[in-house]
Amino acid sequence: MLELLVIVMVVSVAILLAWWACYGGMAGPIDWVMHTSVHGDRGKQQVALTFDDGPDPARTPALLDALAELHVKATFFMVGASVDANPALVARIAAEGHEIGNHTYTHRYLPMARSKMVAKELALTDRAIERATGIVPTLARPPWGGRSPKTVRTFARLAKRMVLWDVNSFDWKGKPAADVAQRVLERARPGSIILMHEARDHGEVTVEAVRLLVPALRAQGFDLVTVSGVV
Ligand SMILES: [Zn+2]
Repeated sequence: MLELLVIVMVVSVAILLAWWACYGGMAGPIDWVMHTSVHGDRGKQQVALTFDDGPDPARTPALLDALAELHVKATFFMVGASVDANPALVARIAAEGHEIGNHTYTHRYLPMARSKMVAKELALTDRAIERATGIVPTLARPPWGGRSPKTVRTFARLAKRMVLWDVNSFDWKGKPAADVAQRVLERARPGSIILMHEARDHGEVTVEAVRLLVPALRAQGFDLVTVSGVV
């Protein structure tokens, strides 16, 4: 009985350590060793809004309308399968001056995947984005920020800049837009990369939060730029 308890405890601690090492929501040991960047230049009053998991025909057009009205260029980390399903929408995102990044083809958790599979996920998405826009992205973000030293090396081998984040909006949690915007405002620093989503159940909250957030960030002296503008 005691042995079983010890085994359960050891396994639990191992899982917690693995999560801590691989989760992208904070700069962890992998970033310290592999020099992965979770934010841009801390010396510039600039932040970058990033939107993951699209394109989503039910959500993205309203987000694009809001960004156009606010004169903000953002960065979209898109899922290759959704790009293939909605090429015209992806073409609109590019035509409106936003930056596009690779977020894998199937939104797979990469630390458990073989390097060959990681490379395939990135290559399929590159091709989908290129078909839709004529552009091959140089930025890529692993789903859930999950990365191991092996993942980081595969991204580098394929000339992808791995982009994580230092401010998580938690816009998917179903909180009111004002709370989402306030959370980001309290945490944004020069060079921050802000994580939001364009394709979740609470997509309308994200759009509303963006409308609150952009003027408030500007009032704090921040310029809003794409990820390439901040790193
Ligand atoms: Zn994602």
